[in-house]
Amino acid sequence: MLILMKNSATREDLIRVKKKIEGLGYRAHEIPGAQRTAIGITGNQGKVDPDLFATMSGVEQAIPVSKPYKLVGRDAKPENSRIDVGGETIGGPELAIIAGPCSIESWEQLIATAKAVKDAGAKFLRGGAFKPRTSPYTFQGMKEEGLVLLREARAQTGLKIVTEVKDILTLPAVAEVADVIQIGARNMTSFGLLEAVGDLRTPVLLKRGISSTIEELLMAAEYILARGNLNVILCERGIRTFEPATRNTLDLNAIPVVKKLSHLPIIVDPSHGIGLWEGVTAMALAGVAAGADGIMIEVHPHPSEALSDGSQSLKPERFKELVEKVRRVAEVVGRTVSPVSPGVAG
Ligand code: PEP
Ligand code: MN
Repeated sequence: MLILMKNSATREDLIRVKKKIEGLGYRAHEIPGAQRTAIGITGNQGKVDPDLFATMSGVEQAIPVSKPYKLVGRDAKPENSRIDVGGETIGGPELAIIAGPCSIESWEQLIATAKAVKDAGAKFLRGGAFKPRTSPYTFQGMKEEGLVLLREARAQTGLKIVTEVKDILTLPAVAEVADVIQIGARNMTSFGLLEAVGDLRTPVLLKRGISSTIEELLMAAEYILARGNLNVILCERGIRTFEPATRNTLDLNAIPVVKKLSHLPIIVDPSHGIGLWEGVTAMALAGVAAGADGIMIEVHPHPSEALSDGSQSLKPERFKELVEKVRRVAEVVGRTVSPVSPGVAG
């Protein structure tokens, strides 16, 4: 059940409705929108009687929700959510350009990549400090030391930091540094972790699970919103199919489908989506054409020496070309890419 408040509803009206919901033993979730606020009701086993709310002051309508998710759906908020990341917006007209190495490997590698991606137009630096790898015998990341390097890279470049959290144990350390906390594909259904980031207010980049449906992705996001963190950005990063020629199959269909079902922004990660550096630019352009709110690209100064995902990482000069092409496609779909600030490369 969703309670849609009138445009003219007062704060007192809202509080009264929330109190009534809580008095019935349910939870009330406020979802502010541009035109009106919606209040989602969760915790009810059976149907909630809309008549309990219909005549209350400030209430426009009480509507039953047929979908399994309540807070991430368009019913709760008809307009697109814009996520504020320390002054940068994800989900507005400007595309979010996120780039950096798969893993942080050294200060030299990180700062060289950070300066290069900034020079190409990125506003966000990605880099994994805690790496959830398929094999326990491959590089697991620089861990806390990597977080220290990320903090320093932000101080030197001003780029916002996107970094992955692997488990609840290391969440406090990651949350201290991250401007955006990434939940990787392997953790999309780690419900305890979803709840833990839901208790924060730091934006969360939630990647689609390797074999997860779009509805499962939205339900994972629902876990985060249900705990009060409305700052969720979804990410299509490819799904496992029968096709062995590419690492994954980038499901471009997911972008317009998610846009229809949810108000949350969705970005595309063509690096993991295809897994081959030669195809990354084409799939980034396709993602933007499909309506993605941004791109996340793996960039490494020496891909052949990378400790993880070198085969899908772009050299900085190729990344720069990619951004210029994205700029042109963005124009076709009514989006923008921020102009490059000159002279940042060192
Ligand atoms: C990554 O972003 O480096 C990563 C591990 O991605 P995914 O979780 O999509 O595999
Ligand atoms: Mn990677």
